[in-house]
Amino acid sequence: MARVTAVLFDFDDTLIDWSHRTQSWEEISLGNIGNIHTYLTQAGHKLPDIGNFHQRYHKILGKSWERANLTWESVCFATVLEETFTACNLDLNQINLNTIMQVYGWEPMPGVVPYQDTIPVLQNLHQNGYKIGLITNAMLPMWMRDIELRHYQLLDYFDVRLSSGDVGYIKPHPAIYYEALKQIDTRPEQAIFVGDRPAYDIAGANNAGMISVWMDPPHLNETLDGIKADYTITSLTELLPILEDLEAGD
Ligand SMILES: [Mg+2]
Repeated sequence: MARVTAVLFDFDDTLIDWSHRTQSWEEISLGNIGNIHTYLTQAGHKLPDIGNFHQRYHKILGKSWERANLTWESVCFATVLEETFTACNLDLNQINLNTIMQVYGWEPMPGVVPYQDTIPVLQNLHQNGYKIGLITNAMLPMWMRDIELRHYQLLDYFDVRLSSGDVGYIKPHPAIYYEALKQIDTRPEQAIFVGDRPAYDIAGANNAGMISVWMDPPHLNETLDGIKADYTITSLTELLPILEDLEAGD
């Protein structure tokens, strides 16, 4: 059996704890899309009112994720924005999408924090020479999710970080795992993947030939539903003895 040299993680509910978030998606989304609405209106574009604008965005976003779940081709934030603007009869040539994504004003979700043991576990892995990676099923480009990683002081631990929005595929498609492994020059059987969503994280890690670890923290009600995880943990610290056993060749 190949020695394990890399540990890759999902982000949400695997490294950061969403159980105490204080605002709904709807509120957050309305605020961020409101920033874009204000910016475009002030720039002289003619838009429907914010409620209608947000509704159109939300509908396009929902349809995009429905499609992604069928095809495993990812939702891309820039595309969702373009489709929303087109639906509102805006001229895409008059709009700089990079500026719009800045204006959106993405920030860490209020109340969401790393687990108590996230940083100690990442430190331990780093000190023991493991390469560390992150793969998130997100429509946002990685530079936006990096805003959260930086805020939580997690950013510097990672040798590779991928958002599906940049790669073009979501987990469980093997392509996104292979891209991460390629970037850290690691074979699938040398790598562990840790994630909380069996149908995405664990099925995908298995598809890609990696060692799968299901993170099943107390606040989630996920079930494996017939998907086989090589290991199950309820906190990140439980990962460390698993790695020691693998190192010892058990
Ligand atoms: Mg997750």
